[in-house]
Amino acid sequence: MAHYVGVDLGATNVRAVVADDDGTVIGESDDDTPHGPTGITVTEAVLRVVREACDDAGVDPEGATAAGIGAIGPLDLAEGAVENPANLPDTIDRIPLTGPLSVLLDTDQVYLHNDTNAGVIGERFYSEQNPDDMVYLTISSGIGAGVCVDGNVLAGWDGNAGEVGHMTVDPQGHLTCGCGHDGHWEAYCSGNNIPRYAAYLHGEDGTDTTLPIDDPDFSAVDVFEQDGEDAFATHVVDQLGHWNAMGVANIVHAYAPLIIYVGGAVALNNPERTLDPIRERMDEMVMSNVPQIQLTTLGDEVVVKGALASAMTGGTGDHSRL
Ligand SMILES: [Zn+2]
Repeated sequence: MAHYVGVDLGATNVRAVVADDDGTVIGESDDDTPHGPTGITVTEAVLRVVREACDDAGVDPEGATAAGIGAIGPLDLAEGAVENPANLPDTIDRIPLTGPLSVLLDTDQVYLHNDTNAGVIGERFYSEQNPDDMVYLTISSGIGAGVCVDGNVLAGWDGNAGEVGHMTVDPQGHLTCGCGHDGHWEAYCSGNNIPRYAAYLHGEDGTDTTLPIDDPDFSAVDVFEQDGEDAFATHVVDQLGHWNAMGVANIVHAYAPLIIYVGGAVALNNPERTLDPIRERMDEMVMSNVPQIQLTTLGDEVVVKGALASAMTGGTGDHSRL
């Protein structure tokens, strides 16, 4: 029996699924992503989770037809590796992936994508609506997009197309992004940066609030919990809607998608308060056709399902390649 392997390598978890030749998942496994000491430790965790998923499915790893990987970036596509991952400790410089997985699975068909590209491949393959022009946008600890235009999933020469979280939305650059540059979308609206943005806004107007602004554990969860209860928290969420809409309008103007699927923890945990403000502002912000904007249908499995879909379709997510 032919089988396929999909891998999601995130900063927190690594998971693998095994599917039979019609795409039904028959085995899975996951584990915490080790935070060192080296990149090889992470590679070994990936191989272990893949072996466990094959055991769970009752198949030999060597019998796999193909595998797909959706990984944290940045990628070195030529080397088939993650290179100096931004969200793991500095001791991890390189995580080899396609080479070791090819050896384990005894196949040279191993497709590596950044996680958002795996996301758009998953949407393309599994969603009821899967036009050739679509975007998967994640609003999570970071912000990024996987983009499919005219049936081609855009990678860029180095695999880093779609880093839309680093588009400048605030020309005055009040907040500095984790990448070191000012005014980037992600510096305001990613899960990691929402508390910092709330603190910035609070410093501007000093309104009374029940939000624990100065508590080191203050998080995006607090902001959304108090939305509608606390006037300042509501103000913060409204402002997030403003920047998110600006970012999405930029995506629409650049890529002309028919549909934008939105995932990532911030969107998945607060779907209406994340998506409605974007939808409401599209007509006034977009000069071309406004796409449908909706929550991903694949939840937090979008990356691993996308990796699997990539394995089954020669790295494309295109049904006609099955
Ligand atoms: Zn940035």
